[in-house]
Amino acid sequence: LNRRLTEFGTTIFAEMSALALSTGSLNLGQGFPDTDGPEELREAAVRALREGRGNQYPPGPGVPELRAAITAHQQRRYGLAYDPDTEVLVTAGATEAIAAALLALVEPGDEVIALEPYYDSYAACIAMAGGRRVPVTLRPHQGPDGPVFRLDLDELRDAVTGRTRLLLINTPHNPTGTVLNRTELAAIAELAVERDLLVVTDEVYEHLVFDGAEHVPLASFPGMRERTIGIGSAGKSFSYTGWKVGWVTGTAALVTAVRSAKQFLTYVASGPFQYAVAEGLALPESFFEGLRKDFTRKRDLLADGLRDAGFSVFRPAGTYFVTADVRPLGESDGFAFCRALPERAGVVAIPNAVFYDHREMGAPFVRFAFCKRVEVLEEAVRRLKGLS
Ligand code: PMP
Ligand code: GLN
Repeated sequence: LNRRLTEFGTTIFAEMSALALSTGSLNLGQGFPDTDGPEELREAAVRALREGRGNQYPPGPGVPELRAAITAHQQRRYGLAYDPDTEVLVTAGATEAIAAALLALVEPGDEVIALEPYYDSYAACIAMAGGRRVPVTLRPHQGPDGPVFRLDLDELRDAVTGRTRLLLINTPHNPTGTVLNRTELAAIAELAVERDLLVVTDEVYEHLVFDGAEHVPLASFPGMRERTIGIGSAGKSFSYTGWKVGWVTGTAALVTAVRSAKQFLTYVASGPFQYAVAEGLALPESFFEGLRKDFTRKRDLLADGLRDAGFSVFRPAGTYFVTADVRPLGESDGFAFCRALPERAGVVAIPNAVFYDHREMGAPFVRFAFCKRVEVLEEAVRRLKGLS
């Protein structure tokens, strides 16, 4: 294994899902739904398979139906206009979009600023591109409705140097559940324009925002369309994580750059599923409202249950993850806590420290996923109450 990758070992998601299986625990670790998304999308995939649409290599940029659906969705929801022929690229999940964007845009030695804690593939992909990651830490704050993680805009500003190539932003944010608000996004946009930075913005949880929180794409701020690569995922928006359909939107120049890397990673992927996702993106707004309603209920069930079990809970405004602080339980090390949890309670969670360079800052936090059936969440909460 080359030196760029040795520090990363096995992804925490594989490790913790294996632990859930081997111990027969409830898996609130890896973020994947335990029920399928809309049946009509499965039917659409079957139709495509039967009719021989996508069974051979689809076009490099993605099938035209899906590219048209992605641009229509951006236009309808956010008023963002992209050309489906030149400004959209379909990828093998958001994971490939992130990898291809970083490989395409980062030169060896370039600095990439990422919000810490960060989704684990960011660090590995920055390393594969030969870049240097510069984490800017989201800090815990006491908000009016309990603790939340917030971005310190001065810290972000101070992190930019002459070597900074791009900002890697994620909102709604995994694992903290923070949704950047308009003021924060406007400040990020101003900074990017002032320092002439590219921005890669991972918005895979765009539809999963709660309590009236609003997801606003960074590309919609002044001066941002021409410097921003936006990333979306059908895994998150339609609960089909195994289909691996993601996408990138941006200017023709940026999308062409990402495609230059992408063509040598997978070339293309997920042929028949691309047609099904095109139908998903055209679903009426009531579908996405239903998704938010379902996840709001599940968030409340898990967040309240964790609070009652004695954790200090960061109630998320978005995503399907809850971060909790283990210190009120008399613990200090989330890693040790997660390793022991299957034995103690028959539940698997993820230690947030793996998403930090400053491990000590993430040490007391653990992440639970609530994209699971209500019965599973109820049982998990019952088991966790036995901890204190
Ligand atoms: N970005 C974030 C923030 C994620 O949480 C995930 C999935 N866990 C991904 C990207 C990857 O998405 P996909 O499954 O579409 O590759
Ligand atoms: N994105 C999911 C999570 O954060 C897992 C993705 C993966 O396993 N690579 O849990």
